[in-house]
Amino acid sequence: MNDKIEEQKEQLKPLVSEAIKSLRGECTVAGDKSISHRALMLGSQVLGTTKIHGLLEGEDVLRTADALTSLGVPIKREADGTWLVTGVGVGGLSESENVLDMGNSGTSTRLLMGLVTPYNFTSFFTGDESLRKRPMARVIEPLSQIGAKFTSRDKGRLPVALTGTNNPLPITYRLPVASAQVKSAILLAGLNTQGITTVIEKEPTRDHTENMLGYFGFNIKKQHLEDSSLSISVTGQPEQKLGQYKIFVPADPSSAAFLIVATIICPDSELLIKNVCINPLRTGLFTSLIEMGANIEFINKREIAGELVADIAVKHSKLMAIKVPANRAPSMIDEYPILAVAAAFAEGESVMHGLSELRVKESDRLSAIIAALTACGVTARAEGDDLYVKGGTTPPQGGAIVTTNFDHRIAMAFLVMGMACKKPVTVDDVTAIATSFPNFTELFNSLGAKIRSPRLASSSSNTRPLVVTIDGPAASGKGTLARRLAEHLNLEYLDTGSLYRAVGMKIIYAGKDPNDHAAAIEAAKSIDIEDLANPRLRQERIGQAASIVSAFPEVRSALLEFQRKFATSGRGAVLDGRDIGTVVCPDADFKFYITATLFARAKRRHKELQGQGIEVVFESVLADLRERDERDEQRAIAPMRPADDAYIIDSSKLDASEVFQTAQNVIMHD
Ligand code: C5P
Repeated sequence: MNDKIEEQKEQLKPLVSEAIKSLRGECTVAGDKSISHRALMLGSQVLGTTKIHGLLEGEDVLRTADALTSLGVPIKREADGTWLVTGVGVGGLSESENVLDMGNSGTSTRLLMGLVTPYNFTSFFTGDESLRKRPMARVIEPLSQIGAKFTSRDKGRLPVALTGTNNPLPITYRLPVASAQVKSAILLAGLNTQGITTVIEKEPTRDHTENMLGYFGFNIKKQHLEDSSLSISVTGQPEQKLGQYKIFVPADPSSAAFLIVATIICPDSELLIKNVCINPLRTGLFTSLIEMGANIEFINKREIAGELVADIAVKHSKLMAIKVPANRAPSMIDEYPILAVAAAFAEGESVMHGLSELRVKESDRLSAIIAALTACGVTARAEGDDLYVKGGTTPPQGGAIVTTNFDHRIAMAFLVMGMACKKPVTVDDVTAIATSFPNFTELFNSLGAKIRSPRLASSSSNTRPLVVTIDGPAASGKGTLARRLAEHLNLEYLDTGSLYRAVGMKIIYAGKDPNDHAAAIEAAKSIDIEDLANPRLRQERIGQAASIVSAFPEVRSALLEFQRKFATSGRGAVLDGRDIGTVVCPDADFKFYITATLFARAKRRHKELQGQGIEVVFESVLADLRERDERDEQRAIAPMRPADDAYIIDSSKLDASEVFQTAQNVIMHD
């Protein structure tokens, strides 16, 4: 038993998030999860192909894709990242050979149960440990009325066997609890059920299924009833024609929520998040934040595939406490963890009413939120189904280790919390984040956040210095990457090229020839750290001189000790050059080799020089780089080459942010 716990602990992947200066820039986030699931499922129900752009490639959505494939739907990912679903039409699914493993995805499970109900075969559903604990009774009940037979564990929990029927009944079902998943399951079952299937909801729930059914041309009708509830009907077994469809999945507002709250609570921050779904049934958090005083603007509003979309501009704001009414819960059910974090930074006591639903999410979220806030020094409590959070004008203490119980939203919310607390916040496990926001850490860090593995955090008790080496040819982008990594990891930075340039400069300014062996050695021995700040070092002729003097073994050995000392003093350092991973620091913790085609590098350098007002012809920049490459690669001592254990990044087609994200990914997942 203990071994098992130890084994689980070893698999945990903790991350630390530290206070940051600011979060700034422009970005977009991965596609909306709900819409991604539905694009695949409804794409399977048309005749013809559906091309999906921007599908969220998170665990949950991939489970839906796998399950549909098992049910006989051809689905493939194209090389350009779009997904192609070849619809089998209503009534076209076939029995799966194997158990449908839904991983952690409640949406996939419940919606697919609806989809396979009107088929005369049996499907077996299971999921991971947390999904196997979640109640399925609420879908089992209406789908049984349609005619499906279920065998499940106690309280309708997975694994579940569902035997469908080829004689399904069109039902009219009043939702006893507001649930978009139950509604969608019934509507999907209704697609292959002769007649009209109707769902009546008292409180509005997410309407992505209806929107997309409409977009695909299915006969879907909405009608407000006298008691102000909404009736949604679908006509089953429609006549279908061959068609070709395109869906652009807008960015997930539930993922954008983390960026928005982070920007609001971090000083001096400003962000533009593009193409976000702003379906009114999803934006309860935005409404609440605006009521709290947040500076949020919706720009460029438009409709795409039945959904409202906008770019969101957000700025750091001073927040006041809020009372969130229970009837807003359906439009922000996933957002309470991050709203609770915002409330910790708002003046006064916030109350969020009617959160019973939060107890049956991926984990008991209500308790998890309270425990995590309390650990961060924030007063928080539940009274019945209401959550109370006391905020203040000074940042919370932080310094806690938050238990996530594999809940991705708790993990993300408290990494955001750490960005503005006095002390870093550690989240015990972040593996679940991949289910909805696969590039969370890389994206946040590229905007200014400092989320790192505990081993790399500045507060780490690790006394051994951390050394990162970045080698590569001129203009490959190694300097930019080195500076960004140094800033991100709170390490010192040394541009070792400047040492050789300083030697070259001394010789040139003394009126000597860089090929003068003795003069070069003498210059190398007298290099002073002050010399490295001279702006003249950047001149092209100095670069050429540097590449000549650097081929003298005595020059290299005169500079070696300085570099090694620099690397291992204090917390460690990031060094860039040509031989850092191979000769200077062969035992470095992380080694990168950044390369790019000669043409790409020459273009970059040419643009850079033009930007500085220096007029040179492109061909001469190209020739200069070629000459330097050859000399650096072919010299007898410490030739430029990647260390055997270096991670190679080709930056020809990447911008500086992408190079940084790639390197960061290596460091994070090492
Ligand atoms: O990187 P940068 O272009 O500033 O380097 C100037 C020259 O210094 C390079 O062309 C190379 O010949 C030399 N150099 C080196 N070893 C290093 C860094 C630079 O030989 N570690």
